[in-house]
Amino acid sequence: MLIKVQNLSYKFNDFTALENVSFEIAKGEIVAIIGPNGSGKTTLIKNIIGVLEPTEGSVMIDGKKPKEIRHKIGYVPQKFEFDKTIPISVHEFMSLEKCGKKGHDEKNIIEALREVGLEDVEEKQLGSLSGGQFQRVMIARALLHEKEILIFDEPSTGIDIAGEKTIYDLIKKINEERGTTCLIVSHELNIVNKYTKKVICINKEMVCFGAPEIVITKETLEKLYGSDTGLFHAHDHHIS
Ligand code: ADP
Ligand code: MG
Repeated sequence: MLIKVQNLSYKFNDFTALENVSFEIAKGEIVAIIGPNGSGKTTLIKNIIGVLEPTEGSVMIDGKKPKEIRHKIGYVPQKFEFDKTIPISVHEFMSLEKCGKKGHDEKNIIEALREVGLEDVEEKQLGSLSGGQFQRVMIARALLHEKEILIFDEPSTGIDIAGEKTIYDLIKKINEERGTTCLIVSHELNIVNKYTKKVICINKEMVCFGAPEIVITKETLEKLYGSDTGLFHAHDHHIS
């Protein structure tokens, strides 16, 4: 197993954000992490990339601590805020993400932008991009060095439905073509069935883990979102 999370608990001072979470992810899998707002998804991700360290339990990746192999993990954060008037082009922004090998940077930047379908924005100002384009630039940036694991934290936040589909299709393509292990965090259920074969449901504690058609039951939905799950049927056709 590539990623092993064992009995992970995480506390912000006295506040418990995660309690006794355990699961394993094999190389090449694409897995969704689902839960309502505040359920600990971002905290879980930060423990997996080694930005936070478990209060109890452990996270191991390829038999090592996340910190030791951070360079092999690409992370597209939930929030990346910047002043849109900063004069920086997409190319310059991408260049800030250092590539290991000298001399390969320029070629890699163009290839990564091409992979996300944005080769035409290379010289544009970063602040002039749409939300969906910006998110794809963030994904291209994570693709610069052949990563083993890519983690996307709510990648479609604030993006319209068409842009949302483009992003999830892109993640699926990267997973299939590169064989990169992908974790997609979302607070919405509708992406799960279409894009992933496995889902981790958390609400501070682990609610369930497995194939969505098996583990996403009425009981699961109630544990995640309370009894008013009708809300989520309304979003069923978000992505089709
Ligand atoms: P999610 O990503 O599922 O919305 P988070 O992992 O961001 O949830 O947050 C889980 C809980 O931890 C929330 O109640 C949040 O308010 C709390 N939390 C997150 N970051 C901090 C922090 N730096 N200090 C204290 N509490 C935090
Ligand atoms: Mg979050």
